[in-house]
Amino acid sequence: MTASGDTLAKLPPAELISLTPDVFTQPFWDAAVEHRLVVPRCTSCGTFRLPPSAFCWSCQAQEVEWIEHDGRGAVYSFTVIHHPLLPELADSVPYVPAVVELPGTNGCRLVGALTDVKLADVRVGMGVGLVWRDVREGETVPTFRPSGS
Ligand SMILES: [Zn+2]
Repeated sequence: MTASGDTLAKLPPAELISLTPDVFTQPFWDAAVEHRLVVPRCTSCGTFRLPPSAFCWSCQAQEVEWIEHDGRGAVYSFTVIHHPLLPELADSVPYVPAVVELPGTNGCRLVGALTDVKLADVRVGMGVGLVWRDVREGETVPTFRPSGS
């Protein structure tokens, strides 16, 4: 069946989501399990660094503090996946991975699938809010839904 503009975006199956935290990203994923969004901010110069990185791109310091964010943002970019590249995705298309810019973080962006939205309504600049998706025990990923009018 071909997706129309009225088609609601789906989500990729939880079984295909696999997180690979490291020492720099673990605090982000730990907070996600608690349904809290945290963004690392350099304690030396105040630059936000998302995705988390070993060194500040501005001043090369390593230390960060984890600042809570309300998860409201705007779609910076997106794509619509219509074709299931894997057989396991056949029931999950179309889905809409998006890059969402988080205000107040000097331009940090977070990737997450859009949910509760018709394909025809997705726009760059659209206001969205974070919705945590628990994919399995101890693993939670961000998704976003339109924040409404
Ligand atoms: Zn810095």
